[in-house]
Amino acid sequence: MRIPLIAGNWKMNKNPAEADAFMTVVADQVPDPDQVETAIAAPAVVLTTMAQNNAPDRLRLAAENCYYEDAGAYTGETSPKTLAEMGMRYVIVGHSERRLYFNETDDLINRKVHAVFRNQMTPIVCCDETMGRRESGEKIHWVVSQVTGALKGVSEQQARQLVIAYEPSWAIGSGTSASADQAEEGCYLIRQTVADLYGDPVADDMRVLYGGSVKPDNIAELMTKRDIDGVLAGGASLDAETFLQLTHYQ
Ligand code: PEP
Repeated sequence: MRIPLIAGNWKMNKNPAEADAFMTVVADQVPDPDQVETAIAAPAVVLTTMAQNNAPDRLRLAAENCYYEDAGAYTGETSPKTLAEMGMRYVIVGHSERRLYFNETDDLINRKVHAVFRNQMTPIVCCDETMGRRESGEKIHWVVSQVTGALKGVSEQQARQLVIAYEPSWAIGSGTSASADQAEEGCYLIRQTVADLYGDPVADDMRVLYGGSVKPDNIAELMTKRDIDGVLAGGASLDAETFLQLTHYQ
């Protein structure tokens, strides 16, 4: 059985004091992780305080990015080993903003996926789809190639634990989510790609999230879909009460 995962991505939007205030509100109210798992991804400088202060046990902490080496002369980068030592459970890898603004390629994303697994954390691999590619009919090829590229050299056992998020950039931050059917179509395509690579049992274990303008009023319908195991929410994760509504979508 796949446990739903409701994850927030704060991006570059909160300072440590704001993160503390958020945690104080959600601490005792997020669901039991055996029923619905919850996670917040925050910038590394903010995670340092969150990990030390009052992050509740039942809310997983996640990094928004990391480098693929554990240590060395890589000025400005964040070590996956350090993130693991700080208690991170997840690391978002290959978000569309990183592909777009920081030129992240499938090869770089693949190296990061390996680094996250090597440090006993779980990657949340984001898979983009632009409106241009959707309209040109190139979408299928692109989603398949992003998933295949990210998973190069990943073992069957690792693939089972993996989380992949279908995040069409035309829906991210736009206020207009993909419809539940469009979101299911993307998540199904991702699961089929994993099935082609590793077989059905692995694809059945792996969780696929939808991300793109998820809000309290559209999450319930999204979560009824067979291949949607949770969401990655940006804007709606910034306010504690709104995030709590997402986590209690049932
Ligand atoms: C995101 O950036 O991962 C995201 C899904 O953002 P939003 O929910 O704001 O569209």
